[in-house]
Amino acid sequence: MEKKIWDLLIKNGTIVNSTGSFQADLAIAKDKIAAVGQLEEGLAERVIHADGRLVMPGMIDSHAHLETGVGESKSKDTYYSGSIAAAYGGTTSFVDFAFNNEGEKPADSMKRKLKEAKGNSVLDYSFHPCINSMDEESLGDIHHFLKNGFPSIKMFTVYRDSLMLEKQGIYEVLKLVAKEQGIALIHAECADMIERKIADAISAGKTLPKDHAACRPVISELEAMYGVLAMARDTKAPVIFAHMTTGESRALLERTDGAKLFAEVCPHYLVLDEEVYERADGYNFICSPPIRGAKDREKLWELVCSGHVQMINSDHTDYHSRQKKKYADYFPKVPNGLPTLETRGMVFFSEAVVKRGMKAERFVELTSANAAKLMGVYPAKGVLAPGSDADVIIVNPECSYTMRAADMHMQTDFCPYEGLEMTGKVEYTIAGGEVLIENGVYAETGHRGKLIKRGKPRLDLIG
Ligand SMILES: [Zn+2]
Repeated sequence: MEKKIWDLLIKNGTIVNSTGSFQADLAIAKDKIAAVGQLEEGLAERVIHADGRLVMPGMIDSHAHLETGVGESKSKDTYYSGSIAAAYGGTTSFVDFAFNNEGEKPADSMKRKLKEAKGNSVLDYSFHPCINSMDEESLGDIHHFLKNGFPSIKMFTVYRDSLMLEKQGIYEVLKLVAKEQGIALIHAECADMIERKIADAISAGKTLPKDHAACRPVISELEAMYGVLAMARDTKAPVIFAHMTTGESRALLERTDGAKLFAEVCPHYLVLDEEVYERADGYNFICSPPIRGAKDREKLWELVCSGHVQMINSDHTDYHSRQKKKYADYFPKVPNGLPTLETRGMVFFSEAVVKRGMKAERFVELTSANAAKLMGVYPAKGVLAPGSDADVIIVNPECSYTMRAADMHMQTDFCPYEGLEMTGKVEYTIAGGEVLIENGVYAETGHRGKLIKRGKPRLDLIG
């Protein structure tokens, strides 16, 4: 008998990395990729045949919210259920956010979130520290995180009474980010413009879901982005614009004058139309920034396809339609967010690779490799190569089906893409060397994810 040196061999698939694709086998030993090449079946305990399949790095979702919110607007999924839903969709690790609840400093909220995820998530995970007050203790916490494995700091230019950090605070944090070679993530919407519009809408009795969208126009996003650009240029801090919705940002992204800017886009801004707010269930689609119209959407696609966008993430926030419907005629109280952790990868695959002819390599870059680089985990993640983590997905690029909420595993009752015709399905998700999804079904193996050890963002590796 030959000695078995690998736990798993994926035979005869098309290996797709951001740098190229080729026909090969991939071997896994424990939780690492052991070899890629023409490999001997007899040396593996188990063989999965991947003929006609794409074998890709497990997707990384560096913008997901699990167990978020408080009180009646607490989101539905737990780290356990949410991470399983993510695995169904081909995601093998995620970065969530440590939002500061009332009275919490950044270190407090991080402690709380680490405790919630530990032993519950089936996928590897990390968190973006968040800061909403520029007091000494908060800034001290952020400085500590930047130096100790949490290099990405989230800030908001909106949500004045909860998440927002005043401009001077953002400027101070950007200086720290630059000093410690971290990276900032910014939710860019102009608080002044949006607050005025919401106050006027309420006075006029215009509080339906479509009024939500009208209160957060493209100009409020651009105004905030330009303000951040000025500070990014001055401080030299790298900045990721979170969930950018508008192609009107092209000039800003092209003429950075030395600022290091990156852009993240979510599939719902590329696929859905603002008409969703006219629907009877329009409340389900309330998210911020809102879903835009055809003109913005096409320009956004152009930015994604031309290389101006570095990451496709979900911004998943999983509410039940009951929680949203309760305020169907009063948008200011509808909890914001869409359940998209499970669908983000393959909706983007179907729309970008299948329908628009995007190269599979670019798909890997946008859904895995760039996130690994910007989050400081490359090449442990984001690439299929010997020594990297055994986070691997096997995708059938030809399988067609219709998107249905009933087929989803997120803890909610609706799917923003209900009825969408899809091509491309995740058949296997292997995370940390464990086969979590097998022939499209989750198997509870007892495997749990780990807190990801993160280093400095690798901006030098971004193409
Ligand atoms: Zn978010």
